[in-house]
Order: sequence, then structure tokens, then C-alpha cells
Amino acid sequence: MDKTYQHNNTERKILNFWLENHIYHSNVNSDKKTFSMVIPPPNVTGSLHLGHALDDTLQDIICRYKRLMGYEVLWLPGTDHAGIATQNVVEKMLQKEGITRHQLGRDKFIEKVWEWKEQYGQKIINQLKSLGASCDWDRERFTMDEVLSRAVKKAFVTLYNMGLIYKGKRIINWCPRCSTALADLEVEHEEREDKLYFVKYKFLENPDHFITIATTRPETIFADTAVAVNPKDKRYSSVIGKKVIVPMTQRTVEIISDERVETDFGTGALKITPGHDPIDFEIGKDHNLEILIAIDLDGKMTELAGELKGLDRDVARRKSIEILEESGALEKVEDLHHAVGHCYRCKTVVEPYISEQWFVKSAPLAKKAIEAVKNDTIQFFPERWEKVYFDWLENIKDWCISRQIWWGHRIPAWYCNNCNEIIVSENEPKSCPKCNSTDLKQDEDVLDTWFSSSLWPFSTMGWPEDTEELKRFFPTSVLVTGFDIIYFWVARMIMMSLALTGKEPFKNVIIHGLIRDSQGRKMSKSIGNVIDPMEIIEESGADALRFSLASLSNPSGQDIKMSKEKVKGARNFANKLWNTARFVLNYKENFVSYDITKEEITNMEPEDIWILSRSNEVKYYLCKKLDEYNFSAASTEVYNFIWDEFCDWYIELTKFRIKNHFKEELAFKILFFTFKQSLLMLHPFMPFITEDLYRRLPDNKESITFETLKEFNLPLNLEKLENMSTLIEATKSTRKLRSEYKIAPNIITEPILVMSDDIKNNFNTEIEKYCFLTRSKNPQIVNEMPTNLRGFALERGNLITVLIYLEKDELEKSREIIEKNIQKLLKELEISKQRLMDPNFLNGAPKEVIELEKEKLEIQKKSVEILERKLSFLK
Ligand SMILES: [Zn+2]
Ligand SMILES: [Zn+2]
Repeated sequence: MDKTYQHNNTERKILNFWLENHIYHSNVNSDKKTFSMVIPPPNVTGSLHLGHALDDTLQDIICRYKRLMGYEVLWLPGTDHAGIATQNVVEKMLQKEGITRHQLGRDKFIEKVWEWKEQYGQKIINQLKSLGASCDWDRERFTMDEVLSRAVKKAFVTLYNMGLIYKGKRIINWCPRCSTALADLEVEHEEREDKLYFVKYKFLENPDHFITIATTRPETIFADTAVAVNPKDKRYSSVIGKKVIVPMTQRTVEIISDERVETDFGTGALKITPGHDPIDFEIGKDHNLEILIAIDLDGKMTELAGELKGLDRDVARRKSIEILEESGALEKVEDLHHAVGHCYRCKTVVEPYISEQWFVKSAPLAKKAIEAVKNDTIQFFPERWEKVYFDWLENIKDWCISRQIWWGHRIPAWYCNNCNEIIVSENEPKSCPKCNSTDLKQDEDVLDTWFSSSLWPFSTMGWPEDTEELKRFFPTSVLVTGFDIIYFWVARMIMMSLALTGKEPFKNVIIHGLIRDSQGRKMSKSIGNVIDPMEIIEESGADALRFSLASLSNPSGQDIKMSKEKVKGARNFANKLWNTARFVLNYKENFVSYDITKEEITNMEPEDIWILSRSNEVKYYLCKKLDEYNFSAASTEVYNFIWDEFCDWYIELTKFRIKNHFKEELAFKILFFTFKQSLLMLHPFMPFITEDLYRRLPDNKESITFETLKEFNLPLNLEKLENMSTLIEATKSTRKLRSEYKIAPNIITEPILVMSDDIKNNFNTEIEKYCFLTRSKNPQIVNEMPTNLRGFALERGNLITVLIYLEKDELEKSREIIEKNIQKLLKELEISKQRLMDPNFLNGAPKEVIELEKEKLEIQKKSVEILERKLSFLK
């Protein structure tokens, strides 16, 4: 074994071992209990960030824990084709060669994307592997795989036949940069400073009079088809039904009344542009208004804009303002702070646009999805996220699923060029069922990426085929994800799964917090506080990264404050474990077996009983906390057990047993047993180092994965447990004195231990161990505090008081220090006393402050007492 722990070597070696031996391949035929999970598929364009690292670490902890509890675990991995994101990446790459996708054509372009995927698409998968994700890599999936594509077609056709998918003319969010429709969820709203333009519309019958409307988008005036006011607005009741002339055009439109007009925005009169605003679209529909289009799909002005035709919409806005100003139609301009929608992919301002799109009728699906959570078929952890989920589903709008890009699942709909029939089918139809024409054309659009991800829990297992995987592992047990995709993904998976398979996709949904920096700020490139998980893995190891993420992951799902220092702490823990292993494995030749006989159990020393019962308790607690998804409590408990109890106490006492050849064989058995148990309990959090050390143990299996975490069957022996706590307390007090009075390690002290008779009688058997642990000899054990002692330092515990004789020079130094402390405390005490007698303070200060001052005085008095008592011995 290396003298110091080399995480890079170990992690590389162990990862290869896992992969080469397909350790995490799950068996559909095993007779174990079943546990399954699907990974939230990262984008194929992605690289691992801390958010993934957290998400996947938590999932991996659960999987490894379940394996150790005897479950057959499937953790199914894969990636998402990420429609727009991937298309953008490949387009940018082609751009460098001076080629556009249109020049290449659809088929050639898609070939390029696949080439790109073959070359770069495995990056994030490899990163997940180095994080230690124990996925079944033989079952890796990709949303564009043949099997998954088949599921997408099947889902589309099924929902269409159920009347839950339809094609309709709607106003949708359009990204002119990406040239595609976006779902409402894909639009990011950003607050910004803007201008509100007040524009005069002249009355047709009386051009000297006008009505003023307010708009942020004067370039859309060209497409106005009405002016609307609220019927309750008294200011305008006389003008309803009158005609006005649309500025910059020769057209006239009517003033209509509609309750949706807000009376307190602008002037209370609204221009109605159904082609370019979702609310106007709704108003226009109810008033049968014409729909005009002034801005085309590329964000350029149409013929409707007259001389502005062909201009970009931003340029057209500036020109429109100029024209309005010159013609005297611009009344005034005000500042306006409002939210503007941007494309979530490229940040371009989205344009509301009317087009024919495919939609999923969401309300009926949502109803079932709400029920499934209301009746606890699906449970959220923490529970508060259920409200977020209900709020969204109760107000759900139809989901626009068509995208005008090339990379994705092409919509399985064909149009008959002869009779316009729409044919929705899983397979390409040969002829039109209505007119028999063979002149058919497939829909050009592809499906929203989230459509295929919403099928992920069952499409990855081979649905709609009734596969072995589906039978054994579906519905899955748990889903772990961030709250930011509850709408995008979690809710939609539930809707789709219930509609298509009749089953819930998973039983528990664990929502974790976001990762922030140590000061609680979002990690961002502009602040420069981004921590790259791959860098941490290189520097400190995946185990250290995982352990720190787990220990920070609170059960309330609050945001996680991450820093490199946290990782260093976990890295030190790995070192400690390595050094412990070197000690333990040094005695490999003394190892006989893990089996402890009944006779040995009756002969156990207090430390044996104590460490075994502690290990049982920790195992119980670990399971309880992991079942509650409380990763921080679970990991902290294991850490404290290994570091404090096993390393600092049991191992130290083992050294005593070895030195004195005292019940040595039993000590070795328990040493190896507890060490193995420690490795198992730590394994979910730090899989690499625990696997490496496990494989060095005697009598091991091929991998720690195949072990089961059990409790040691142990009779309760309170007397021996009490002895152990007495030994711990006596040792701690003595060590505290030695360090407080700076007694050099080579000095052997002769302490006096004061304890009651009942403790004393039992403790007699532990005296030698006490001496070994504290570098003491001939301790006097008495049951009353001795009087007239001089030159002794004292430490008072709960059950035991320890006194140690000090040498002359130590004595003087200590006395000086304590006297100084007493003087200082007395001064402070005097100030407190004065304050509490001062009527100004007593009458003026708040009650709590006075209470605090009184408490302070009491504490100071006690401290002085303790110090004076200590001083009384140091004479
Ligand atoms: Zn865009
Ligand atoms: Zn036809």
C-alpha cells in the first residue's frame, strides 16, 4: 500500500475495475427486491457542472445504499438529444467553415449532427463515470435511439387518437434567431428599462380630435386592427364604435370595448394587434378582428410596413418613432420598467407570432397528474414542492410541441397534397386513406425535446414493447432532480406516464437545492466563482467531492453553499481512512475469521461490546436517515463513527491489546469486522476508496457491491458499556489536563481519579487501559476529593474528577496564567455589577439586554469560582 493516499491512482484503477467487470449491470431475473431509477438525461452537448455532480451523487448514494440492503438495483443512464442546443452547436461549427444548414440541406445537416454526437457526445457520460456513478452502462440510452424514437411516435399517435394532440393556429413565442416556436416555459422574462410611447389616433369623422394610446412597440402599429377601451371606463364611453385612422397608414379601425383592457395602464386605451400580442390575439378572436402580420419570421418588417419593409424590427422601431414624431402623432414618451421575454437558448427577444403548431391538450392530463400526488401514489421530498406542482398543473395551458428545427423527432404526420387530409401514423403511409393519392408530404417540424424526455422513464425500458426491463423495473422507485425542472420535466413525465402506461413513472421525487458559493451567491462566469467539478476530482478526488456534496445536502432542500475548503476536509478524511487501513491490514496475517463465537461474546472487553453496539446504532441511524433522504445527517454520522469512535478509541485500545497479548485474537476479529462495516457504511458516499480497501480485506467478495449491510447480533451488556464510558471520560479529562498544562508527551503522570464507589469497583479492570491511553502510572482511585493537596491541576467531569501533579516550573507558569485570568474576569465582573446597579441602564435598556447582562454576571461568577478552585490546588 502507498504510504499516503493517491486518489488519482485509486479512482482510475477502481473505475476500470467496475467498467471492465460490468459490476453495475442489473439482472432482470434475480430474486432480490427491486429498486430502480432513471438518470435525468444530461444534454448531449453538456459537460458536468456542480449541479449535475450533486444530482448524480445523491442518486448514486441511494443506489449504492439499496444494493447494500440487498436490492436488485437498476440505475439507467443516458443523454438527451437537446434539439435546439445541439443544432446551435453544430450550426456554429459549420459557420466557421462558412456553411449554413440551409446550404447543406436537411439530410446532410442531420448527418453532421450525428457525426458531432459520435465525436463529442460521450463527454458528459465519461465525466459521470469518473464521478463514480454506478449506472448500468450496458443499458445506456439516447433520446434519438431507434427504440426511443419508436416510443415517441407511438406516444404521439396514441395521444392524437385520444384527441389529446391537435394542430391549431395559435399565437406562440417565436425566436427569430433560432427560427422556431418556443413553449411558454422556454421564454425567460427579464426586467428591463424601456420606453412607453403615447401615440395619437385621429378620429375619421373629426381629424382635429384624437384618442391617445400607449405602446412599447410602435413598429407593430402597422398591424393594428382595432383600438380597445374598457366598457367601465367613463372617459371613453362616448367614443365606442367610432372609427380612427391608424398612424403611418391609410387604414381605419374601430374603437371597441373589452373588459380585458386595463384602465390604469397608459391612457386606458389600447391598440389591438392580434398578429403580434397574445392578449390582443384573444381579444381579436372574440371580436372577429382581422389578423395582420407586420413582422415576419426572421424578425423583419413585411409589406404592410410600407417603406419600412425589410428592415429589422429594432431598426423599424426607431424609424417608426421618427415618422410618428415628424407627423405630430407622438404625444409623449415615458420611461417604463417591465419584463421582456427572451429565448432561453440564445437570449434573443421573442416575438409573439401566429402560426399553425401542434399542441398537447394538457388539462385532462394534468387532472390525473394532480390526483396521483394528492392520493400519495407519488410523493415529493420536501413536501412543500407539491404546492408548486399543483399550482402549475391547475392553471396549465396547452403545450406547443412543434419546433421549426431539423434536429429532433420529426412529427409523424403527413399531408395529402391532393385533398389536404392529415394522416398521423407511426409508419410512413403509402397513400392517402381518403383519396388514394400517393402525393404525400411529411410535416417539416420536429417535436419539442421535452416531448421525448417526458417519456424517458418508460421509453428507456423499451415501451411500448412489453420488455423484461419494463416488467421488472417500471414504475421506477425514485427520481432526483432540481426544482427548476418540476414543470418542464417532472410534471410532464407524470402526465405522459399516466396517460400512456396507466402507471406512475416513479414513487418518490426528491427535489434538492441549487449550489451556490460560500457566500451564498449564484455561481456565474461573470463573478468568477464557478467551481468546476472535474477540477475538484483531479485535485482532491471524486470521493471527496461526493462526500462534501452529501454532507451539505440538507433535507429541507435549501440551497447548498459549496467551497473548496469543504472538499479539503473530506479529502483529509480519505487520508485518515487510508492510514487506518494501513494499520488494520498490517495484521492481515493475524486475521482468522469474521465469525465471533458465543464464548468470545461472553468474554468481550468493554471496548469490544461498545464498538459493536455503536456500529449497530450507526447502521440503524444511517438507514433511517437515508430512507428519509437526509444525506447530510447520514454522512455526518458515519464520519463521526469512523473518525472518533473507531479510529480514536477502538484502534488505540487494540494497540493496547496487541502490546499486552491480551484477548488479541478477539480484538483482531472485531478490528477487521468493524473496519469492514465502516467501509460498507461509508461506501455510498465514498465508493472508490472503500472499494479499493475492501478488496484488500481478507475473505472478500469480487466487489463491495455484492456485500450486504447487516447488524451484529449482540446481547446487551450495560455494565461493560458503562465501564467503557468511564474509561472514555477519565481519558478525556486526563488528556485535557495534559494539553491545558502543556505536559510534554514523554512525561508519565501519576494522577488521582475521584469517582463514586459503584463506578470505582467496575473501573478497576480498565485501569491498565487508562494508563496506556493517558501515559499515566499508579493512578490513585479514591471516592472523595482529597484535602490539603498542593501542586495539582484539576479537571472535573460528569462522573470523574482527575487531578495531576505538576512540576515546580509548570506550577508557577500555570498559577500566573490563572491569576491573570481571574484578575481579568473580576474587572469585567465589576463592570457588569456597576451596570446592573445603574438606574439609567435599568430603566432605559430593553428587557432582553438586562437579562443578558444578568446572565453574563452569573457566568463570570462561576468562572471565577472554577479558576479559584483550580488555583487552590496549585500551591
Ligand atoms: Zn433563440
Ligand atoms: Zn388525399
